[in-house]
Amino acid sequence: MGGRVVPIRDARARRHAPPVPADIDRSAALVLDRLHRPLLDLRISVTDRCNFRCVYCMPREHFDGDHRYVAHDELLSFEEITRLARIFVRRGTRKIRLTGGEPLLRRDIESLVRMLADLRTELALPLELAITTNGSLLKRKAAALAEAGLQRVTVSLDALDDAVFRRASDVDFPVAQVLEGIEAAAAAGLGPVKVNMVVKRGLNDDQILPMARYFRGRGHILRFIEFMDVGNSNGWRLDDVVPSAELLARIGAELPLEAVEQTQPGAVAQRWRYRDGSGEIGTISSISHAFCGDCTRARLSTEGSLYLCLFSQSGHDLRALLRAGADDRQIAAALGAIWSAREDRYSEQRGAATPADSGRRIEMSYIGG
Ligand code: SAM
Repeated sequence: MGGRVVPIRDARARRHAPPVPADIDRSAALVLDRLHRPLLDLRISVTDRCNFRCVYCMPREHFDGDHRYVAHDELLSFEEITRLARIFVRRGTRKIRLTGGEPLLRRDIESLVRMLADLRTELALPLELAITTNGSLLKRKAAALAEAGLQRVTVSLDALDDAVFRRASDVDFPVAQVLEGIEAAAAAGLGPVKVNMVVKRGLNDDQILPMARYFRGRGHILRFIEFMDVGNSNGWRLDDVVPSAELLARIGAELPLEAVEQTQPGAVAQRWRYRDGSGEIGTISSISHAFCGDCTRARLSTEGSLYLCLFSQSGHDLRALLRAGADDRQIAAALGAIWSAREDRYSEQRGAATPADSGRRIEMSYIGG
């Protein structure tokens, strides 16, 4: 197999290497990048379409009208996705998250979940299988997704107040239905449900405390995400970011918090718990506290291009290999070569580059959030 395949003993010895999980077979063809990061997580965008028009992600003025969505025959089929996923698993991937666009819009998504749930690591362990969704179809689909083998769900929700939610999502969809979707997911065994709230100053930061109060004590984990400079269309400005430190101070003044020790390598969220034992929250500080050092994630776009960073300007076309008839060994070798050359750490370098000079970027709905 191609790529820099490093025995796990040696990988562990590297001073800055994120820990390699104990369940990886020592003979597995684990591949490490130039910063000694293994390829543990794969996010797969199953559609670039969404029924919401969140102003920070798919603003209507860019995504309605002339925007060209990926045509159906350009999308990876479920068989192609599963075949690639199997190859990723051979190279160390342990966790797959389906995203988009809105993944629950992809027809018969339960079948893809079932196919991925059948995959096993070289030690015969199942993968961690999750979906990120806006929750609009979750009430209808939660039970079938759980039955198909999905393990966890993350639901995006930016406000409790309907008017604020409408302003953020730019659709007329009731918050109550998203909340019902969250409860349906928990009832189906897909919990603890993570609830992602992107915070943009002046748009929904007045919802931080109502959201914290509502989700506290319900067994769900609310995570606050700093508004990020992804894509080219969301008009990002640093002034619109509410840094996690400010957000924690606002919550902590009413609901005292303490830090929770991080146990998962490569986790994006910092964990906090309420001192009164009523639950946990997370902060994702991709602007104020970049976390590239242990980034073990890759993203597969709707049409099968592999992106090594959320801020990449180009991808690696794996679909071309699939459709040209490459066998699994050849694709695994290509993947090894791509990952072992990876040295992206955009977020940490952000200080040196402004949005204006950092070039054209890929939209999140295309490579998967
Ligand atoms: N449609 C699904 C959903 O709403 O969760 C999945 C795709 S969405 C792109 C995935 C996640 O990315 C969501 O939690 C969304 O809020 C987040 N996201 C999108 N644009 C963002 C931005 N500019 N900054 C921070 N998070 C963003």
